[in-house]
Amino acid sequence: MPFNLGKYTELNSFLKTKNVTLVAVSKFQPLEEIQKAYNAGIRDFGENYAQELCSKFPALPDDIRWHFIGHLQTNKVKYIAPFVYLIQSVDSANLLKEINKQAKKAGRIIKCLLQLHIAEETSKTGFNEDEILKINYADYPNIEICGMMGMATFTGNEEILKNEFSKLRETFLKAKPQFPQMQFLSMGMTDDYKTAISQGSTMVRVGSLLFGRRS
Ligand SMILES: *Cc1c(COP(=O)(O)O)cnc(C)c1O
Repeated sequence: MPFNLGKYTELNSFLKTKNVTLVAVSKFQPLEEIQKAYNAGIRDFGENYAQELCSKFPALPDDIRWHFIGHLQTNKVKYIAPFVYLIQSVDSANLLKEINKQAKKAGRIIKCLLQLHIAEETSKTGFNEDEILKINYADYPNIEICGMMGMATFTGNEEILKNEFSKLRETFLKAKPQFPQMQFLSMGMTDDYKTAISQGSTMVRVGSLLFGRRS
């Protein structure tokens, strides 16, 4: 599907008025379409699969900030650790441990968001609140935890969405003292970003609106 410049321009000016960062979700999009989005001014792109990200990274401009937003298996961390900008989908202590190890190997401090499980669907992954409050940040000197991420239930029901997003914001505020660099609250996608912003989102991950529905 082609990159839609008109939709991007409209979304971008809306997000600017709200002070919200846009991450363009480019999974399954060919290089040409990502390049078009880059030419329009986008620098933050989100990918879900380590292999796909690793093949796109060397073929596109090197000032792109690559966000990893999909479920990340521990054995794939090493492939993205040298260059990833922000891993948004950290959902277990095991994964934190492996990211810390690979970051150290790569001589980097890797920025991460903690993913909170907020949806009704059990298929979605993430920490629960207690697990987040139990994390000992000092165990991970090569990780900078700079916020939280969550995915709401796939529903058009505004009340459910609002409840889930506000739950994420509450946990974010509770965890803030524990993680001094926390600033990003990543919530909202094509179908729910307006609701997410009304509940305090500072970063949205939008794919279909910019590139069309994925087949
Ligand atoms: C695919 C995906 C998105 C983007 O979804 P759209 O509905 O296309 O905007 C956002 N976040 C995550 C975690 C995703 O996997």
